[in-house]
Amino acid sequence: MIERSLFNADHEAFRDSFRRFMDKEIAPFHAQWEEQGHVDREVWRKAGANGFLCMTMPEAYGGAGVDKLYSMLQIEELNAAGFSGIGFGLHTEIVAPYILHYGTDEQKARWLPKLASGEMVGAIAMSEPAAGSDLQGVKTTALRHGDHYLLNGGKTFITNGWHADLVIVVAKTNPTAGAKGTSLLLVERGMPGFETGQRLKKVGLKAQDTSELFFQDVKVPADNLLGGAAQENRGFICLMEQLPWERLQIAIGAVANMQACIDLTRDYVLQRKVFGQPVASFQNTRHKLAEAQTEAQVARVFVDQCMQLLLAGKLDTATASMAKYWCSDLQNKVIDECVQLHGGYGYMWEYPVARAWADARVQRIYGGTNEIMKEVISRSMGLAAR
Ligand SMILES: Cc1cc2nc3c(=O)[nH]c(=O)nc-3n(C[C@H](O)[C@H](O)[C@H](O)COP(=O)(O)OP(=O)(O)OC[C@H]3O[C@@H](n4cnc5c(N)ncnc54)[C@H](O)[C@@H]3O)c2cc1C
Repeated sequence: MIERSLFNADHEAFRDSFRRFMDKEIAPFHAQWEEQGHVDREVWRKAGANGFLCMTMPEAYGGAGVDKLYSMLQIEELNAAGFSGIGFGLHTEIVAPYILHYGTDEQKARWLPKLASGEMVGAIAMSEPAAGSDLQGVKTTALRHGDHYLLNGGKTFITNGWHADLVIVVAKTNPTAGAKGTSLLLVERGMPGFETGQRLKKVGLKAQDTSELFFQDVKVPADNLLGGAAQENRGFICLMEQLPWERLQIAIGAVANMQACIDLTRDYVLQRKVFGQPVASFQNTRHKLAEAQTEAQVARVFVDQCMQLLLAGKLDTATASMAKYWCSDLQNKVIDECVQLHGGYGYMWEYPVARAWADARVQRIYGGTNEIMKEVISRSMGLAAR
């Protein structure tokens, strides 16, 4: 195996300590959380108290001011363990960075420490029933009335939506200006007119709460416009700027998860006997796992290289889109083979490989579908659609 060079001893110490946290605070409860359709709120507070939320935020805002490799490690560990109900990644590395990068000083001081402590859970609401891939088609409006915006509309498929106390909502502040009329508003739980719908029943990610959100004449103070007045109608630009890291996170999770599935399938086929011999002794088994390991290794090297580019501020959206589409497709292919090598047991929920198979499917859909990734990549090749 090609040795990785990204992490130093401090990173590895963090990995060990996060593993201990998972063993104590997540592993004993995750099956129950899958049954109930959401994690317990307590795990958010415990993660915050132990320094496992918003690590990359500056210390002044409750973070540890560390580099994004710490977040990469956390994403890898959660995905390798199959703890798909834990929405720390979206909270820590999507919601908080929007506030850090675009928020006013007052907004940063007001919300980042609460996100870092787990007192508040964050979500981001872009998708609507009629606007997923085509975000320019967002219908939710936020129209300025004096010192507030009047927010009306509905969002769907929102990760952490049911637990969320703070939601970054994508809305049209100038409905006739298309993408140039889009803004990001910070909407808080408890604002009159803001309601959460049912938790949506999903094929996988069963412990992760995914919800609809409804806004009816919600009076959002003008101070809650992300970045203040200077950022009005600049929301689309902010969304585009954050895409490389958001997409790379999906690729990181895909590689960690497929490697874990390969490892546990290797262990399974060594001990499972058919026709009096281990499944591992069949040439087909050995070749399938050799192929999977080769592909996972190639994917890991590419993702590690993308991470280095990201740290250097050089990861472009097309390259991140390649990582997102290719690694999530590969994850699905590899895990499907792993299920096959488990036989009927691979289809039983109690087997981690079965849960991984169900969880992996959405990786090709969210964060921008893989078809949209190919649109982005082909545009970067000068192949614009007519
Ligand atoms: C579990 C889960 C969690 C999610 N979490 C969040 C969240 O936290 N926040 C949030 O805002 N959203 C979230 N989403 C929404 C997700 O980002 C969207 O589902 C996704 O962007 C696709 O949009 P859509 O579902 O409307 O599909 P559609 O846009 O209707 O796409 C349908 C099909 O058409 C294809 N298609 C669309 N346009 C093109 C094109 N130009 N060329 C070729 N093919 C095309 C798509 O690839 C897809 O195959 C989540 C979704 C799921 C399932």
